[in-house]
Amino acid sequence: MSFNSRYQHFAFRLAIALAVSGGLGGAIVAGSWWLSFPVLRLPLAESGLATEFLGGIALALTGIAAISGFFAGVWKRVSLLTSSLVLLVVLWSLSHTMTGWPALYGAESLSPPSVFTFLFLAVGTLGLQAATRRRVTVTVVAAVVALLTCLYKLAIYTYWLQNPADRILLLSLPPQTAALQSLLALALLSHSIHTLRKLTDKAPKLVLSSYGLMAVICVLGWAYFTNLESRTIRKESVQLAANVSRVLEEHVYRSLDPIDLLFVDTARQVATDGLASVTKSKREWRALKAMADALPQVSALLIFDAEGEFRSFTQQFPPPSGNYSFREYFQAHQAGKRRHLGELIAAGTSGKPIFTYSHRLTDNDGNFAGVILASLEIDYFRSFYRSLDLGPGAAVGLWRRDGKLLMREPLLPNIAGQHLDQHPIYTNLIHENPTGTFLGYSPYDGEQKLAYYLASDNLPFVINTVLGTDHLIALFERQFLHATSILALLLSLLMAVMLAQLRAIRRSAHAHERVKQSQRFSQAVLNSVSSAIAIVSPGGEIVSVNAAWHRLARDNDSNDTSRFVGQDYLEICNSTQDERTESADSVAADLSAVIAGTLDELEHIYSLQRSEGECWFRMKVVPMSDGSGRVVVSHESITALKQAEAALKEAASTDHLTGLNNRRVVIEEAEGYLANARRHQHPLSVMMIDCDHFKQINDTFGHAGGDKVLRTLAWIMRDTCRTGDLLGRLGGEEFVAVLPYALTEGVEILAERLRQAVQDAQVPYDGTHISCTVSIGVATLQPDMSFDDLLKQADEALYRAKANGRNRVST
Ligand code: GH3
Ligand code: MG
Ligand code: MG
Repeated sequence: MSFNSRYQHFAFRLAIALAVSGGLGGAIVAGSWWLSFPVLRLPLAESGLATEFLGGIALALTGIAAISGFFAGVWKRVSLLTSSLVLLVVLWSLSHTMTGWPALYGAESLSPPSVFTFLFLAVGTLGLQAATRRRVTVTVVAAVVALLTCLYKLAIYTYWLQNPADRILLLSLPPQTAALQSLLALALLSHSIHTLRKLTDKAPKLVLSSYGLMAVICVLGWAYFTNLESRTIRKESVQLAANVSRVLEEHVYRSLDPIDLLFVDTARQVATDGLASVTKSKREWRALKAMADALPQVSALLIFDAEGEFRSFTQQFPPPSGNYSFREYFQAHQAGKRRHLGELIAAGTSGKPIFTYSHRLTDNDGNFAGVILASLEIDYFRSFYRSLDLGPGAAVGLWRRDGKLLMREPLLPNIAGQHLDQHPIYTNLIHENPTGTFLGYSPYDGEQKLAYYLASDNLPFVINTVLGTDHLIALFERQFLHATSILALLLSLLMAVMLAQLRAIRRSAHAHERVKQSQRFSQAVLNSVSSAIAIVSPGGEIVSVNAAWHRLARDNDSNDTSRFVGQDYLEICNSTQDERTESADSVAADLSAVIAGTLDELEHIYSLQRSEGECWFRMKVVPMSDGSGRVVVSHESITALKQAEAALKEAASTDHLTGLNNRRVVIEEAEGYLANARRHQHPLSVMMIDCDHFKQINDTFGHAGGDKVLRTLAWIMRDTCRTGDLLGRLGGEEFVAVLPYALTEGVEILAERLRQAVQDAQVPYDGTHISCTVSIGVATLQPDMSFDDLLKQADEALYRAKANGRNRVST
């Protein structure tokens, strides 16, 4: 495994260390959690252990991921698999705190993700980076999750600050935690942005950001809908409990109403005729018993006198003796209370649990005269309450406003004396609002319940309908599982498509790079060639040029920038406006023919006038053999070749010592002079010149001295003769001059001038001067004379000049 920076090295080591230690700790916590809870229920928001458990699993998986990241092959796959599980677990644990549960448990149970969740996330991220080296993807996902969670936390804190009742929770989740998490999220985000910015290509950035956005939208939608679902379940549950409570309230009133009527009737009789009028004989007793029997909710009717003595009892006549002045209801009525709901007690006569409803009796003057009381049948209420199906863990109860229990279904084993007079519902809540909900733990079975309480207006009782939250959570969990499965499917799909796209982009980038490399290679090859080369498309457009092409264009015309890629080369050829227009036109036509395939190839040699002189080029156009229809146009400088050719030609026709024409050229060209003279009938003469005693000069001054004399003689000849005259060296020290337009007399004068000039010339050589004379034979062209004849005649004249003493002209 290789690391690009010290940061990566450090991050990897940190990830390994944290993952191993965290994984071990997490496994221990998870193990003990598992052992103490036989069924895995996720999550127990109230239990920090759940978070620890999930964190433990996440860390253990991270450990495996990070360590297996070391290895290749199968381990790499294990690493990827466990890494994905880490993210799922972290997401799951976040989702449990972020979505349904807070709403189900009510605001007081809102539990944003703890700092541990973020540590797990960070560790997971580092481990994943180390294991998979997919730094960008992993970091972006982690950063977005972290940031969203932070925003969520911030929203919750804001909510708490607005609700003073919930501020107490700030103590357990200090703002420092949020600050730490924000820092972590920002660090992750900035790291991912930094990594993203290093991607110079736009395409992967676009893919990452658009898929990231889609994933965020999916998660937000999922969070919204699951939250909505949980709220709906909670709302429906509260509605159900409220409706049940109203029905029960109505039931209580309907049960007590007929008893009230009977009590009012009896109280009126006691007030007018005295207590004895309703208790004195068996006839009154029968009337009372008949009324008690007619009411199924009443198990017995009892009448006590002002001292608490038992005076009438519908179960027995006469009633058993006994004093009940110690009872709560008796003391309440004695103190002046008109109507009273008695707490749940064991009946004095049967010992069965009952609760009572009683009225105060008064005499004619309004003084306390006793109590009439109905002992209420618990089974009557129970059979009705049992008919309501509210799901597992549910309970309905009838309570007095002071928290004394009157009746509960399901019945408690020791129901008498089970009071909740210190419970917040009875100490506070019903005094603030007669109806409301309360979320808490049942003092009877220890399970969490959602309670709806309803305090009655006329009588001091409270209906309490309790629903088991396990049942509600199970309902929600089903919905949540469906939604989460869909989300997971969507996210995996998005991830898969995104990775495929990124891979495709990377591949095409590589292919592009390879093409570019081969282009660079071919360009380098082209540039290394000295000829100016352009590749021209079938449409005539220049596709590519080499460095020599640029140089050629610059040398031809420094302002010319037209001969570059993208320009129409045919157009350039056609628009070439100079003295070579005609040839340019035909070149353009031939170029089109090569492009069209009607001409195999084109070669054209041309010259340009430049400041340094005439420059020659060979233009070649050949089709490319790659089947693209393109042609290669090359311009090769052949100036050096041309110059060498000219030099060679000159060397072949010139006498190397004197620079005059050699014998062959003189004989060849003289024919033309003769023909011209005959055609235009103008005279032509020839001088034959020979150095006198040249052997002596050679002997005296050496060959070099002789050569210098010969060169001087040639120079004097050029100087003396006209430009149109043909001068040449016939061999040795013998020269000839063909002089058109010259008659014998004129030639004689010219020859004399030449002879005199040679005689006068003092050739400086080696510190001294060489003197030399020439003999000259002159002949003039006669009709029907060949050049040979003319030369012969001149040679004869020369012979005569030599014979007559040399240094003279002879005809
Ligand atoms: P005359 O007056 O009768 O012409 O006497 P000459 O010595 O000039 O006559 P000849 O023809 O006997 O000698 C010519 C000499 O010129 C012979 C040769 O050595 C010499 N010669 C021929 N070609 C060259 C040459 O290129 N350079 C030099 N230095 N000498 C040459
Ligand atoms: Mg000579
Ligand atoms: Mg000679």
